[in-house]
Formats: sequence, C-alpha cells, structure tokens
Amino acid sequence: MKEQVEAIKELQELVLIRDEYCQRGNGSRLDEFNARIDAVKAKLSPQVKTVFERLYKRNHVAAAGLANNCCAACGMSVPIASVQMVKKAQHLVCCASCGRILYADDADTVSNVKGRVDLDGKIGIERFSGEKLMLPGLKAKDRADAIAELAGLLEKNGFIKSADNMVAAAMEREQILSTATDHDIAFPHVRGVEGGGLTVAIGTSRKGVKWDGLTVHIVILAMIPVAVSSYYLKFMGSITKSLSKAAARQAVIAAADADELWKALQKTTRAELK
Ligand SMILES: [Zn+2]
Repeated sequence: MKEQVEAIKELQELVLIRDEYCQRGNGSRLDEFNARIDAVKAKLSPQVKTVFERLYKRNHVAAAGLANNCCAACGMSVPIASVQMVKKAQHLVCCASCGRILYADDADTVSNVKGRVDLDGKIGIERFSGEKLMLPGLKAKDRADAIAELAGLLEKNGFIKSADNMVAAAMEREQILSTATDHDIAFPHVRGVEGGGLTVAIGTSRKGVKWDGLTVHIVILAMIPVAVSSYYLKFMGSITKSLSKAAARQAVIAAADADELWKALQKTTRAELK
C-alpha cells in the first residue's frame, strides 16, 4: 500500500498544478500534463483509483497529510489507531470526517513552526504577510537564489526550521512546472505546510530574476496549508490582477525598503485580495 499512497501524493500534487496551469497557462502543455497524470493514475489499483476519482469529483484536494494527528484538510482529529495505520501505510485510510485519503508526512516536510503571521490588519495582503516578510532588492539573479533569499527570511522570522528544506521543496515543485507568469511575477510555493495559515514572503528586484526563460521582478514565496489549496488559486489571481496596472507594479518594484514595499502592497491589494 505504501507505493499506492506515494502515487496518490504525487497525483494530488500534479492535479493541483494542472489547476494552477489552467488558470494562468496558455494551454499549450495541457496534453503533456494530462498524460503525466494518467501515467501516475495507472500505478493505482482499481479500488484506490475509484476512491481517488470519487473524492476528486467532489473536491480537487482528495488527499491530505496528518498534522498533529489531525486531518490537514478538515482539521478533524484522527484516532490514534488510524494514525498508526496511516504511518505504516498497510491499508488505505480515509478521514472519518471528510473522507479524504490520509498520508503520513515525511520527516523533512516543511512545517510552519510559528503559526499565523501576527496580523496588523485584516484586509488585502495583511492576512497573509507582514512588513518583516518583505525583501526589496533581491540580490538573486536566478530562481534558486531568489527562493533561498526568501526562505532565509522565513527562517529568520521563525516560521520554518530549515530554509534549505523549503528551497528543496519549492525547487522540486518548480521542476514540474515553472511558477513564473507573463505578468512579471513568480509564485514559487510549497504545499502541505501545516501549522499556520497561508503565509507569503515577498521579494522584488529592479534588475529582474531569470526564471526558466522568463524574467520576473516580483517573487512571492508561499507556504500553503492543504486546507487552502483551492483558495491559493484565487490568491494568485487576485495578486496578478492587483499588479496588472503598470503604475501599481512599478510602485512595488521601486520600493526602497521593507516599509515602502509593504505599504505599496497594502495599497494595491486592498480592493482585489479578499
Ligand atoms: Zn478530513
């Protein structure tokens, strides 16, 4: 069953990346993506495949990790006997509350050890970030270095224990599909980061950062709990729309320090980001 659960985890990530791609991509790689998803599905036994398909129809988040012995998707606590079964992966275990397939997280999974950002406001970007997570003037010239700078900021502020693990996980995600958009923004992220809400660190570069064939000037590194996987698509859409006007984007890119960057982002995301 262990291999089946591994295949489910892989499949879950791929279908969510396909959703991201459908939202912002031009569709040219959709066939390639569907073929990749079918190849992973082929690894599933007929029973497991049926369970996955049934759950996927209801919600694209069909599987969830355990976070402190709770289902990461719905938050319901999982009986200790089931937790042991999930860890041993001898049987397929579904959450008794939401029905999702449960899996155990690896030891090096990134987790949010700080919890929620202490919010100084409740609108726009303020729900997901703070001035201390702003990094204007990224030194990085390429995406790995840009992700490392922002992960370092998350580590410095106590959100994660290891920036290196965060970089490795975000780069693994980038290898499947680049998160750079045609709108001058890259959205690197790691899904399944439990322990807090959606949390983002934001960096800017006037010179630009090379990102898999594109150049971006704004980099938004996100830690995404499983429960907000669907909302994250809206978040990306709202940020993109907020920064679609050249003047707003330029104000963000031109910010000289964290305070200025934070204020520019608060202003520009207030109307769109809900
Ligand atoms: Zn659940």
